Amino acid sequence: MSLPHAWLDDVHPSPYADQLALGFHLLRFTRPLEREYRAYMLEDNFDLKRIALSVGMVLWVMFAALDFAMVHSPEVWWMLGVRLVVFVLLAICAWLILQRAHVHLLLPLSLLCILALGIGAALVVGIAHRADPNYPYEGLLLVSMAAYFLVGLRLSEALACALVVLLVYIGIELWAGLPTPRLINNVLFLLFGNLIGAVGCYLLEFKSREHFLVSRLMRVLADHDSLTGLHNRRSFNRQFERLWRQAQREGQSLALLLCDLDHFKAYNDRYGHQAGDNVLQRVGSLLLDAARRPLDMSVRLGGEEFAVLLYDIGAAEAWQRAEALRATLETLNIQHERSDTASMLTMSIGVACIQPNEAGELATLYEHADRALYEAKAFGRNQVVA
Ligand code: GH3
Ligand code: MG
Ligand code: MG
Repeated sequence: MSLPHAWLDDVHPSPYADQLALGFHLLRFTRPLEREYRAYMLEDNFDLKRIALSVGMVLWVMFAALDFAMVHSPEVWWMLGVRLVVFVLLAICAWLILQRAHVHLLLPLSLLCILALGIGAALVVGIAHRADPNYPYEGLLLVSMAAYFLVGLRLSEALACALVVLLVYIGIELWAGLPTPRLINNVLFLLFGNLIGAVGCYLLEFKSREHFLVSRLMRVLADHDSLTGLHNRRSFNRQFERLWRQAQREGQSLALLLCDLDHFKAYNDRYGHQAGDNVLQRVGSLLLDAARRPLDMSVRLGGEEFAVLLYDIGAAEAWQRAEALRATLETLNIQHERSDTASMLTMSIGVACIQPNEAGELATLYEHADRALYEAKAFGRNQVVA
C-alpha cells in the first residue's frame, strides 16, 4: 500500500510526519512511536475487547448446548468438561479486563482468552472425532477470525495465536486417530481461512497505524504555528491553565515573558514580507532554545508577538533569561535601517513572575507582563522590564 502524503513536505519536522514519509510496510514504527502506538491501541480497543469477550462467551455456551443436542456418546461429558473449564477461564479474564485497573494485563489477558478458546475448541473437536469423525471442526476458524478482527490484536500477535491453535489441533487429531486424508483436508481448509484472515488483519493494522500517525500529526498542527513551529495561542491558553493549576498544587512559581519585535512593520516595509517571515523563524528558534525544560513553553501569540512561559523560576532568574534572550537577538545583528532604536533588529520584553498559591489569578500574570512590555516600549524599546 502506498502513502500519498505529498502535503507532508510543508509540515514542520515531527516524528509522526517522518514516520509517514518513511512508511511502515512491516507494521513497525521507530521505537518511541511504537511504544506510543501500542499504548494508544490498548486504550482505543478497550470497548472492542469487552464486546468480543461477551460475543465469545455467548457463542461458547451456545456451542456447548449444540454439543449436548448432537453428540450422544459418553465423549459429550468430556467435551462439556472442556467447555466448562474454558468458560470459567474466560469469566476470570473478563472480570480482570473489565476492572480496567490493570492496563498492562490487557494484552496478555486477551491473548490468554484467544488461546483458551482455540485450544479448548481443538480439544473439543479432537474428543468428538474419537466418536464421530463428521463432527464439525470449522469452529476453529471462528476463533482465528476473532483473533484477527475482533479482539484488537496486532497481526503478529493474532498470527502467533492462530499458529499455536493450528499446531495443537494437528497434535490432538493425531491423538484422536483421524484418518490422514481427512486431517490434510481439514488443515488445508484452516490454513486458507487463516491466510484470508491474516491479509485482512494486515490491511486493518496498516490503516490503524496510518490513522494513528495522521491524527497525532493533525493534533500537532492544530496546536502549533505553521511559520515558526512554536505553540500557538490556543495551545498556550490550554497549557497556561494546566500549568497554573500544577503550580498551585506544587507551590511553584511561574514566569511569563511577553516579547515583541521593535519596529517590525518598518522592517517588512524596508526588506519585504518574505525577509520578515525569515526573521520570525529565526526569532522562533531563539525562543525555542529559551524554553528547553519539559514544563516550559514558547509561543507565537500572533504577528511579531511571542511569549515564553517558564515553570518553577524566581523573579531574578526570569529577568536574566529575558535579558539573555534580548541580548542574543541583538548579537544576531539582523540589519534594520528603518529602526529608530538601533541599527539592528531588536525586541522588547515584559516579564512577570507569580506564585499561584498567593493571592491573584491567572489573568493577573498576563496583565502584569503586558504592562511591563508596554513600559519597555515606552521607555525606548530594546529592553527588558519586569
Ligand atoms: P513596535 O515597535 O511598536 O512593536 O512596532 P511594530 O511595527 O513592531 O508593531 P506593529 O504592531 O505596528 O506592527 C506589527 C507588524 O508585524 C505588522 C505586520 O506587517 C507584521 N507582521 C505580522 N505578522 C506577520 C507575519 O506573519 N509575517 C511578516 N513578515 N510580518 C508580519
Ligand atoms: Mg512590534
Ligand atoms: Mg506588536
